[in-house]
Amino acid sequence: MIHVESLTKYYNDLCAVDQISFDIKTGEILGLLGPNGAGKTTTLRMLTGFIHPTSGNISVKDFNIDEHPLEIKKLMGYLPESAPLYHDMLVYDYLSFVLSIRGIGVEKKTPRIHKLADLCGINEIMHKPVGELSKGYRQRVGLAHAMMSDPEILILDEPTSGLDPNQIVEIREIIRRIGKEKTVILSTHILSEAEATCDRIIIINHGRIVADGSAETLKQSASGEYLINILLKNAEFKSVKDELLSIDGIKSVTPIENEEYLQVKLLCKSPSDLRGNIYRKIKQTDWILVGFYRETRTLENIFRELTREV
Ligand code: ATP
Repeated sequence: MIHVESLTKYYNDLCAVDQISFDIKTGEILGLLGPNGAGKTTTLRMLTGFIHPTSGNISVKDFNIDEHPLEIKKLMGYLPESAPLYHDMLVYDYLSFVLSIRGIGVEKKTPRIHKLADLCGINEIMHKPVGELSKGYRQRVGLAHAMMSDPEILILDEPTSGLDPNQIVEIREIIRRIGKEKTVILSTHILSEAEATCDRIIIINHGRIVADGSAETLKQSASGEYLINILLKNAEFKSVKDELLSIDGIKSVTPIENEEYLQVKLLCKSPSDLRGNIYRKIKQTDWILVGFYRETRTLENIFRELTREV
């Protein structure tokens, strides 16, 4: 549905987005994940046609953004990081006003507002002034605004930013509900958010894509590296290190501070699980094995590895 090719944006000399390319399928919920300043907002603003790329190409459903910017805008709803809302208006009046300026007639307006209110969970605040709403409800009204024209694609910039944990869960549920019918692209720097909400995650850092896949595939395919911790008695570090480094695939053996046992952390780079080889090696010695576990790779480890400053 969306095809992005070599998209690049310079702000004067600063390269905010650097030749990124990706495709998004209909119905996908895609998370654009990256640390502050990675280029997420810039990418979303280019996708929605708010700013022009320095170079590269965006097409949506065979419309090219240079030739058909309005057609593309019509397909999209956009929730910017801080949604601009009219604070003095009642929620109902605000939504009704937005529909009017989009040329929606009276007879279609009311059912549309009710549908949006159900979808975004704002029925009970329809007659409150926007300025009196909690941040969570304001964000829901922002979502209703973005969904106003029933767009096929919804673009959300940090939709849960500044919300409390309950509000975060509620907004995520609404996004998942919307994602059953729409293509959704959201940006976040919160890993758990991307993992909980998105079918697919693109990690960007310094304007470049550093990983692309489902949370599960990212975890599995990260680098083929994993860590094993071993706790031993009756052993001294030098011989443990020499013996274990002789196993093919063990790249390093690092001592870990432990008052009771000799603890070592092994960096393994192997497509297979080396625990069997390690266990057999230990059995040939007179070391006493008191602990042995493989560290689980979390999306958080992977995110840190991919986005850490070198
Ligand atoms: P955050 O999570 O902090 O919102 P982000 O990933 O959305 O960050 P962007 O806002 O796209 O990142 O910014 C990418 C880079 O471009 C940053 O270095 C930022 O300072 C810079 N930048 C963004 N907008 C502008 C602008 N209008 N003029 C100049 N530089 C900009």
